[in-house]
Amino acid sequence: MAMMKAVRKMKRERGAELVQVPVPTIKPHEVLVKVRATSICGTDVSIYDWNAWAENRIRNVPQTMGHEFAGDVVETGSAVRRIKVGDYISAETHIPCFNCPPCLNRQFHICSNLVILGVDGDGCFAEYAAIPEDVCWVNEKSIPPEFACVQEPLGNATYTVCVEPVVGKSVIIFGDGPTGLFATGVARVAGASLVATIGRHNFRLDIAKKMGADLALNEKELGLDGVEKAIRDALSAKFYDGKYGADVVLDMVGTEEGIALGLKLVRKGGRFSAFGVAKKLQIPFDYNNGIVFKGVDIRGINGRIMYDTWYTVKNLLASGRLNIEPVVTHKLPLDEFEKGFALMMDRPKVSGKVVFML
Ligand SMILES: [Zn+2]
Ligand SMILES: [Zn+2]
Repeated sequence: MAMMKAVRKMKRERGAELVQVPVPTIKPHEVLVKVRATSICGTDVSIYDWNAWAENRIRNVPQTMGHEFAGDVVETGSAVRRIKVGDYISAETHIPCFNCPPCLNRQFHICSNLVILGVDGDGCFAEYAAIPEDVCWVNEKSIPPEFACVQEPLGNATYTVCVEPVVGKSVIIFGDGPTGLFATGVARVAGASLVATIGRHNFRLDIAKKMGADLALNEKELGLDGVEKAIRDALSAKFYDGKYGADVVLDMVGTEEGIALGLKLVRKGGRFSAFGVAKKLQIPFDYNNGIVFKGVDIRGINGRIMYDTWYTVKNLLASGRLNIEPVVTHKLPLDEFEKGFALMMDRPKVSGKVVFML
């Protein structure tokens, strides 16, 4: 039996192990991928760290971690038609059922029976991974694997920014994590008139500037009042009196203070995109003045539109218009997975996206 290296969750506690396991045997509707690059997501950090979410959500242990990848198809199942051996692919990590009310309305990304790669089954922190053909996405060959593997979170950012046009609009982004940084670059490329990124880590705010942020604001240094003033001043300087607020607010973190300030900052008739997952289940905010009287358009964002978002992401990368190099800060061999997770969890933050190269 052919064996391979894999980073697996072996116990229902903190940590993971690099072990030898058999190369997966594919089912008729699956393809076998030789992984070239795979990146660490916040979800993987939760599973590694074994927080309350992981304890509740993860059923199968041992299980191979990881869901973001790029690699080459080396074998296809008997029922596979679209994908060929030699295709260079990534995958939508949300595997839909195609049968529930959202799926029947072509909202596959929020299927009611979603199965998630590396969460509900073996993932891709390994030399090989078995992937259902339904979620395979064929990459443009010119996109390097360390960029192609992050299309899943880049897709989150692209969907959050582009759910409605931002051309000529001011865009305020709460969060300097990888999706906030990606959103910064996408907003700039998509023609936003002003891009302000708000975070807590100077290392990442420097990346936000490289991604095209006009303002990169450290809320720990400025305070929330300072952040608000800087944004209103920047609007007043070039566009209109900043008292009216910004056209678009994207929340990429889910903090109580950020959501409250975001709803305060968004202008009448503006748009608020909610992507960040709140740590608290209940977030108090001014419902009447924050949403109702303002006529704010609230957009919940989960996953990526299949496959509209993937199409946009691929073409932004292939065109060279969007350069995500500043966000991909670390490339490590899979053997150094512990260093990768440490980089993701260290405070203050000294990493953007961490990628394992195979
Ligand atoms: Zn991810
Ligand atoms: Zn479904």
